[in-house]
Amino acid sequence: MTTVYVKLTGLASNWTKPCQHAVNDLNAQFKRNGIKVVLAASGSQGPTITVKTDSSIQGDAVHGRTTAESNDSGKMLRAEVRLPVKVSINTPRGQRDAGPGILEVIAGHEFVHALGHSVHNSQLMAQTMYKEMGDNAAGDTLKAGSVRMPPLTLSPDSISELQSIWN
Ligand SMILES: [Zn+2]
Repeated sequence: MTTVYVKLTGLASNWTKPCQHAVNDLNAQFKRNGIKVVLAASGSQGPTITVKTDSSIQGDAVHGRTTAESNDSGKMLRAEVRLPVKVSINTPRGQRDAGPGILEVIAGHEFVHALGHSVHNSQLMAQTMYKEMGDNAAGDTLKAGSVRMPPLTLSPDSISELQSIWN
């Protein structure tokens, strides 16, 4: 079992909780599916994912940007996840900040890239996702195919990929 530290220090406050939720959701999925890696939002030893915002990423994007270094077996040594400073959603009454659920999905997607899942397939690791407005920001979701997230869901292909890296 490998613990990967997710470093949120200094991250903009709108992202902190969504990142923590993504960590918890992903850990539950990893455990359920025998993926032998645990994300930890505290601690500072071993492989680390550093998370920051990047003003060059557009706010209408539903993707961040991740760079990762791995060892020969594909296990991550260190990674950097860059997230948009803010994410907007269009509503009939104009644009507003997207809710925390959308931010959680964006962060979770990038964390899984950081763990060595470099391709796109479906569900959490879909290439294309659409913002769906809730009755309020708390109800906002991202839709990949027919799947609405959160909660974060990994496709069978993503589970196999992660199981083969983290075993
Ligand atoms: Zn991606």
